[in-house]
Amino acid sequence: MTEPVQLVPGDTIGILGGGQLGRMMSLAAASLGLKTHIFCPDENSPAFEVADRHTVAAYDDLQALDAFAAECKVVTYEFENVPGETAARLESHIPVRPSPHALEVSQDRNTEKEFLRSAQVDIADFATIDSENDLEEALELLGGKGVLKTRRFGYDGKGQVMIRDLEDIDGALDKIGNAPAVLEQLIPFQREVSVIVARDVNGTCTAYDIAENHHENHILKTSTVPANVRAETADAARAMAIKIATSLKYVGVMGVEMFLIEEDGAERLLVNEIAPRVHNSGHWTEDACLTSQFEQHMRAVAGWTLGSAERHSNVVMENLIGAECEAWPTILKDPKARLHLYGKSEARDGRKMGHVNRISPKTD
Ligand code: ATP
Ligand code: MG
Repeated sequence: MTEPVQLVPGDTIGILGGGQLGRMMSLAAASLGLKTHIFCPDENSPAFEVADRHTVAAYDDLQALDAFAAECKVVTYEFENVPGETAARLESHIPVRPSPHALEVSQDRNTEKEFLRSAQVDIADFATIDSENDLEEALELLGGKGVLKTRRFGYDGKGQVMIRDLEDIDGALDKIGNAPAVLEQLIPFQREVSVIVARDVNGTCTAYDIAENHHENHILKTSTVPANVRAETADAARAMAIKIATSLKYVGVMGVEMFLIEEDGAERLLVNEIAPRVHNSGHWTEDACLTSQFEQHMRAVAGWTLGSAERHSNVVMENLIGAECEAWPTILKDPKARLHLYGKSEARDGRKMGHVNRISPKTD
């Protein structure tokens, strides 16, 4: 077997996608002496201004992809909807990390759930939906309530409809554009948590402490660490995330979202979804851990040894959404607040403009 490709300082990591995640990956790469080349169709990409090079081209521009690959030693991505053909084309030249297989699994909720089940990870019951008839049958099987979600391209709660009774079925498929879908059992969870896990090219895994996440208008608002959960639950969550990364032979950082259910005095976890990339609920690691998720991802895709995921502080990460970023002067006055702005010019409603990590002494 050939040895996995390993970069040396000065080498270039290609990144598909030029948003804030690509930007923060580039900054982390630079601090390790690695260069980045961003590939994104949007000419106003926030990542361009902090990367060594960028290419503005469509993801199906094969000529541009070939030229991009010729300048990079390895390629990664900041979003899971990288087209399969794009990943395959790049992989014919250089390693794609995480693998195109990880993309394929996580791009489709149905495939992802089947994978999670086969990896013996607990998930909500679900059914595949292609017609109104499927929906009626599934609703009965799942106890009369469910969440209808498109199999592909959902984010920030888009492409989802809550079904609370039979009447809600009417027009529900229209609302999601009659796209192939799944119906998930409605989970009466008490809390939402997530785990950021990393796996290197040799299979060594490390998982960060678990974060407790709060959403507003279907967008992540805060991640709090430590999460208000039992130590055994936190250990179980991390073990589950490591199991997922291992089953996928994953290379890089992955976000694993989970529901926490309290039942009869016990806590139980169900995996909601996985994201094959650095994750918004891991932004707290930048200021509360020895190694941020961004550095960890760059180390993994470079074929390097992972850093320590040890947490040295308590932290609350708050997303700055739309006009909330205008509070930057006030945030700067708080000595325990670490401000991160993404350099986006227009503060549109619902747009993630930055985040702030509020640090306090570690309590556990
Ligand atoms: P994001 O991009 O924020 O991760 P998404 O569009 O990919 O969101 P999900 O994470 O599947 O979608 O769902 C968004 C939110 O809807 C969850 O964080 C949770 O609050 C709620 N939700 C999703 N599925 C269920 C479920 N089966 N039962 C109860 N609530 C759910
Ligand atoms: Mg989610």
